[in-house]
Amino acid sequence: MNAARRAEIFARLQALNPKPTTELVYGSPFELLIAVILSAQATDRSVNLATPELFRAAGNPAAMHALGVDGISRYIRTIGLFRSKAKHIVEACRILVDEHGGEVPRTREALERLPGVGRKTANVVLNTAFGEPTIAVDTHIFRVANRTGLAPGRTPLAVEQALLKHVPKPYLHDCHHWLILHGRYVCKARKPECWRCPIADLCDYRDKTPAPDAAGQAAEGGPAAKAATAPAPRKASAAKAAKRPAGARRATRAG
Ligand code: SF4
Repeated sequence: MNAARRAEIFARLQALNPKPTTELVYGSPFELLIAVILSAQATDRSVNLATPELFRAAGNPAAMHALGVDGISRYIRTIGLFRSKAKHIVEACRILVDEHGGEVPRTREALERLPGVGRKTANVVLNTAFGEPTIAVDTHIFRVANRTGLAPGRTPLAVEQALLKHVPKPYLHDCHHWLILHGRYVCKARKPECWRCPIADLCDYRDKTPAPDAAGQAAEGGPAAKAATAPAPRKASAAKAAKRPAGARRATRAG
């Protein structure tokens, strides 16, 4: 894929959603850090259902540490792997209090030293809490980058590095959220919805999915067969998808 097509992809995603952000609900860098730890292999929706009560009970590292594993577990039972996440959070909060004055550190090295925090989580915190142009490659970004030809790579790290190299600078900060949202709601894992994709004409994916009604007629050799091979982006549908409320979200995050 050449530079002009990459730039056009992000220009369109930006036009549809000028200020993309995480779907996790948080009120401070600390709350974002905890929410991202909890979101590993869980949906943002399940995390958002649990965190308001948790953050009311403990909105800073010292209070969260004081809750302990059992106390935290009571608030997050509905989230997968809650027990080990509670253990990570307690230990992470101890480090925040003992070594960082109760603040979330702003460097990758310090963040990745916290239990439950890997490269992806550190990238989310650096990007969303501190405005750094980092890219956290989750399952959606990995798929979209490879499928479209935007930034192919065999591993999340390879995709991250390819994106950092090829995404035009003005789009770097928000690239992460545009690609996640595109993967969640349009370029879905099992069946990408190419017929309503705003970047279909720029995407390298060969087996583009025809519209559901066109697919049925195509199988019968009807007039929709031709249209199905050249799906035209429908701005209204794409804009609707970009604005879909959090309640409709079902995607599962990578660990
Ligand atoms: S055309 Fe299809 S495969 Fe390509 S980005 Fe759009 S939804 Fe994904």
